[in-house]
Amino acid sequence: MALINENFLKLKAGYLFPEIARRVKAFTEANPEAAKRLIRCGIGDVTEALPEAVRYAMHEAVDEMGNRGTFKGYGPEQGYDFLRKAIAENDFQARGINVDADEIFISDGSKCDTGNILDIFGKGNKIAITDPVYPVYVDTNVMIGNTGDADENGAYAGLHYLKCGPENGFVPAIPNERVDLVYLCYPNNPTGATATRAQLEAWVQYALKNDTIILYDAAYEAFIQDDSIPRSIFEIEGARDCAIEFRSFSKNGGFTGMRCAFVVIPKGLMGKTASGEKQAIHPLWSRRHSTKFNGASYIIQKGAEALYTAEGKSQVKALIEHYMGNAKLLVQACKDAGLAVYGGVNAPYVWVKTPSGLTSWQMFDKMLNEANVVITPGSGFGSAGEGYFRISAFNSRANVEEVCTRIKALTK
Ligand SMILES: *Cc1c(COP(=O)(O)O)cnc(C)c1O
Repeated sequence: MALINENFLKLKAGYLFPEIARRVKAFTEANPEAAKRLIRCGIGDVTEALPEAVRYAMHEAVDEMGNRGTFKGYGPEQGYDFLRKAIAENDFQARGINVDADEIFISDGSKCDTGNILDIFGKGNKIAITDPVYPVYVDTNVMIGNTGDADENGAYAGLHYLKCGPENGFVPAIPNERVDLVYLCYPNNPTGATATRAQLEAWVQYALKNDTIILYDAAYEAFIQDDSIPRSIFEIEGARDCAIEFRSFSKNGGFTGMRCAFVVIPKGLMGKTASGEKQAIHPLWSRRHSTKFNGASYIIQKGAEALYTAEGKSQVKALIEHYMGNAKLLVQACKDAGLAVYGGVNAPYVWVKTPSGLTSWQMFDKMLNEANVVITPGSGFGSAGEGYFRISAFNSRANVEEVCTRIKALTK
């Protein structure tokens, strides 16, 4: 019989969203009438239609595929030049950030990228993650064998957990010890927090001093409203020598069902071999991408390119304004209900302290039973998320207004 990768048996995950689904199903069966007014503010998925500019560009690309003269087979594994250039120029160079088109690797999603990046790093690295955290960073480290077993709180041996709470604005303090890799995600899922320029500068200084690589997930940069907050780690001096950035079109362009994202790896970024020789990271990822990936779809990349046209930009802006308008209403409703609320200002997630010492799951049940609203229990993102819940602003305005009314009507 074939041996399996036993690391998979250590996984505690598959717990959060299946458990939510189980409780929602039980509620629906027991309360068929109330279930009709159920509003889902749980999973972080966009709800509004694709920008028109994207649809037009894809229609054209489909027609190109239907014509022998313009048909495209396999494309470049790293992505088409038209998209890599549009990204480099619009997201970076136009903002004074030094990133070249050939430092950008197009993919079919940041979830895959943040997981796959571990392919190019060796065993024995000290790895730090925030708590609470986007579970993908943790689970992919478990799968590849970078951790021991989980304890009763779900914390894995071998990972360095950086606690995030209101005391540090949900941005972790600089650790006292050195680590090799650290995952940072700002604006943050699930807390909706952002990192200031000074905080990111401190992290880059730490990374340069300790030869740490920062894995920076900027999936929500488009939601930043405050111009003083960096949208890219590469806005910080020195970051080209210590950071990899992950970006996705999922949340800004509504591409969750389309699948397109990218990784930025500066050519000068270095790791080392076990014998201590320096090795550039960029060619390793390039090789990994070429061997295990055959490129994102031409049609989808054409759609993504359209996000950078004048029409595309204004349609993205309208989507962001819609979701951030929702976030603002949700923040206000929680405040009106006397709840302590974080996030929701530069991110589409509202992170709320549970009232009267309820656990995250008790609050989940209260929201489900009393308000018929599905939220995400904070404890599902790590033990430091206990006592919080996350409300997603990805919804229609009508649903959000209804959710706000119901939050204000919650019993104390
Ligand atoms: C949604 C999200 C992404 C994007 O993932 P895709 O695979 O590109 O859809 C990346 N990171 C975080 C933290 C997210 O919440």
